[in-house]
Amino acid sequence: MKGDDWPAIYERTLDCVHCGLCLPTCPTYRETGRETSSPRGRIYMLRAVAENRAALSEVISEEIYLCLGCRACETACPSGVRFGSMLELARAEIDRSGLRRGWAIRLERWALRGLIANPRRLSLVISLLRAVQQLRVDRLVAGWLPEPWRELYALAPRVPPARERGPLPGFTPAIGAKRGRVALFVGCVMPELFGAINAATVRVLSRNGFEVVVPESQGCCGALHAHTGDLAFARDLSRRNLAAFAAVDFDALIVNSAGCGAALRELEEWLPGEGAALASRVRDVSEFLDAAGLRAPEGRIESRVCYDDPCHLVHGQKVDAAPRRLLEQIPGIELQAHDDPAGCCGAAGIYNLTHRAMSRAVLERKMQSLGAADPDYVATGNPGCLMQLRAGVAAAGLRAEVVHPIELLDRAYAPRAVGA
Ligand code: SF4
Ligand code: SF4
Repeated sequence: MKGDDWPAIYERTLDCVHCGLCLPTCPTYRETGRETSSPRGRIYMLRAVAENRAALSEVISEEIYLCLGCRACETACPSGVRFGSMLELARAEIDRSGLRRGWAIRLERWALRGLIANPRRLSLVISLLRAVQQLRVDRLVAGWLPEPWRELYALAPRVPPARERGPLPGFTPAIGAKRGRVALFVGCVMPELFGAINAATVRVLSRNGFEVVVPESQGCCGALHAHTGDLAFARDLSRRNLAAFAAVDFDALIVNSAGCGAALRELEEWLPGEGAALASRVRDVSEFLDAAGLRAPEGRIESRVCYDDPCHLVHGQKVDAAPRRLLEQIPGIELQAHDDPAGCCGAAGIYNLTHRAMSRAVLERKMQSLGAADPDYVATGNPGCLMQLRAGVAAAGLRAEVVHPIELLDRAYAPRAVGA
């Protein structure tokens, strides 16, 4: 039996005029050459199901899940198709239909609900991983792991020390003349794996004259859940964040993770009538600092930097020039173009765990582009992309350090010059 989301899916399919302009930008179409693995093909199949001309089948389910959700097709589309939102609704319907089953799906659901959305449990697991890495047991065990587990393990990031994983201060004052007050969205994996980036974000905002508040009761944005068909749980998480940020006063909600930013910006899609007010105040940190006007950094970073657009920043939020403009304002930095900045890296939430072959093929294209440019740094603003690109850079033997743009800004505000 069909669920309640089909009318909304159908409405979104009607915007497609079948022009095919999106096809060359679609990573899964580029890899397979199959119409069914293209945006137009996926829209066609969903429309056929909505119009009762086809049944929701395993083949359709597989093609809908083979999609990376990168939304490059939205940028290319002249007709304004809301592909990301349609994809989330379609995956929720596939989930309800029972077409996705088996132990791997149950494990995925448990990990996303019981681990990623539970900060205490997540912290415990990350601490265990840190202990294993410190004792170097992982290197010993990794050598014995069969494929694909060895390859999956290579994606695991180095866990930072506990001092970088503690909570941020609830309030940080502005340095110099105060220009405003912002709230920071800290995310779920960011505090555990990229706490230094969150801390750098607070420092840079403070150096630019903004007070920063970090409400303790905030939590996971729910993007990973929505992208894997668990839209109901994502809506529950969103309501918790609405309450957390309603309790504080701020001018803008700053996000340094592109995936979270895109999800928060589209809260109204998930929670009609409830999410618009908060969504309208969401800003990516680069976009916010660019619009506010960056205070000139004193330090120099003598380096060539390739900026790589996170899909959910460039396609999901239409932010592409702001991070480049900020990087260009750091003395010593030369922005280096590369061939495929807005192409997906293959991380796509947990896609690099669930669709290894396609993810690897998509990453390979990115690595060829970055390898030809040979930068000192690759800068990108999303935790999934940071992990994927670090794994790709290591596997390809490139010398570049993969960083968040805010880390370079933070280093440039340090009193001494920084070399590559
Ligand atoms: S979201 Fe990305 S992978 Fe999916 S159809 Fe659009 S371009 Fe292709
Ligand atoms: S570009 Fe837009 S209208 Fe054209 S085929 Fe793709 S989704 Fe449809």
